Amino acid sequence: MNFNPSVKFRASIPEEIILVANKLVASGYNAYLVGGCVRDLLMGREPKDWDVATDAKPEEIQKIFSTFAGATADKPATVYENKFGTVGVKTGSDNESLKIIEITTFRIEGKYTDKRHPDEIKFAETIEEDLGRRDFTINAIALKPNTQNLKPELVDPFNGQDDIKNKIIRAVGNPEDRFNEDALRLMRAVRFATELDFSIQGKTAVAVKKQAGLLEMIAKERIRDEFIKILMAEKAVSGIQLLEDLGLLRFIAPELRDGIGVGQNKHHIYTVWEHNLKALDYAAKKNYSLEIRLAALLHDIGKPATKVGEGLDCTFYNHEIVSAKLAAEILDRLRFPKDLAEKIIHLVRYHLFYYNVGEVSEAGVRRFLARVGPENVDDFIKIREADRIGSGVPKAVPYKLRHLLFMIEKVKQDPISPKMLKVNGEDVMKILGIEPGPRVGRILSVLLDEVIENPEKNTKENLEFRIQDLGKLSDIELEKLAKISRGKKEEFESGIEEEMKKKFYVK
Ligand code: ATP
Ligand code: MG
Repeated sequence: MNFNPSVKFRASIPEEIILVANKLVASGYNAYLVGGCVRDLLMGREPKDWDVATDAKPEEIQKIFSTFAGATADKPATVYENKFGTVGVKTGSDNESLKIIEITTFRIEGKYTDKRHPDEIKFAETIEEDLGRRDFTINAIALKPNTQNLKPELVDPFNGQDDIKNKIIRAVGNPEDRFNEDALRLMRAVRFATELDFSIQGKTAVAVKKQAGLLEMIAKERIRDEFIKILMAEKAVSGIQLLEDLGLLRFIAPELRDGIGVGQNKHHIYTVWEHNLKALDYAAKKNYSLEIRLAALLHDIGKPATKVGEGLDCTFYNHEIVSAKLAAEILDRLRFPKDLAEKIIHLVRYHLFYYNVGEVSEAGVRRFLARVGPENVDDFIKIREADRIGSGVPKAVPYKLRHLLFMIEKVKQDPISPKMLKVNGEDVMKILGIEPGPRVGRILSVLLDEVIENPEKNTKENLEFRIQDLGKLSDIELEKLAKISRGKKEEFESGIEEEMKKKFYVK
């Protein structure tokens, strides 16, 4: 790469970094920018964080920076918590990425007996040694923010600049050894290739393929974090495809692979695998959130297991239930936070809602809202769009969706949850003279059903009257009614089953 350090380039190094580097140099040490920030600067991208490497030892760094940026010795500017030789220096900057600058002592890593943690950290003497322990050549370039002249000096022993120019991810040193040392690098190779739109160099790719199984040694949380970065890239789909091509996906989400080559019926032109990826692609292109992207990727993951028949008339009844179950397993296995997982599972479980103008009543729309939660409507519409576009044969659904939104607007103020009833559990207990228990819940659930059916019934007088009536029923009769109410919320789903059966499938 014809790298030409210009004044502009120097200007893109923040003042905080220059100050920190100056202070190290003034104290008799070397200071380099290293890692992602150098790569990003060379590519004209804005660095996410700034890492400084130095030959000063952690204790010396702490000493040098204890009173930095107005800090005092009893409230020093440094934090030194980890055992990897990294000292954080608080700069007092307003910029989030510059609040704490990480300064790491040059090091070489010792042996990795467990393939994920070096057995010991050894400090190194030179920046070249430090660069040699880094994962990929594009991440192994150091930059001296030389303050005397405007030309920053680069240290690039592995020709990382050439690889940036040629858009190549290449391991530093012998790829097999490097993946063997730390198997997370397998994921990182794909992650950088996806984020930067680079390709993985031949020998490095061969080594990833050969060592893919080492991923099993890696903590699921670390795999998850790289997987998230792949999903959040604009080219997320290339990333998933690359994970598959290099044999990594089977250690992350093997369930996705079951859709490979599984053909679908006349509503689709793509296989299940292709369709899931196309849905993700839509979500990524729209820059949707992680949960939408994951829900899009996983929404049909239950199809291979539910497929009945072959060819244009095959069916996938209840696939959304199986998809939700498999999604739950994958997200749990990868240690996704519970609330995020629940949201995704919910989207997958109810992605198949049915709506057709004139066929679904206002009560049906209220039931839909009660089922999916009014706050989730936008996300369900996004998933539906991803599904539709990803099918390759998008039908004229937008009109239907717009109509659904119109209907939702219309019924928005109507009661759809127990707390919107004009009576509550206390009222039920008082009127019937009963203690808290399942009976109270059953009565409320029947009342809610009646009110969803007809919102005009949501008056205190009417509901109190109904409570007295329902109070006369036996537990068994009441449970039967409550069960029917709960079942009605599924109208949107059973709707599609019935229509599909009628129109397309003889079953
Ligand atoms: P990002 O822009 O996503 O932060 P990055 O390149 O800065 O990318 P980090 O995970 O922040 O990546 O790591 C900083 C640097 O530390 C990397 O550029 C690389 O030189 C080195 N590094 C990080 N993880 C590893 C690893 N597992 N093995 C070898 N070197 C690593
Ligand atoms: Mg970084």
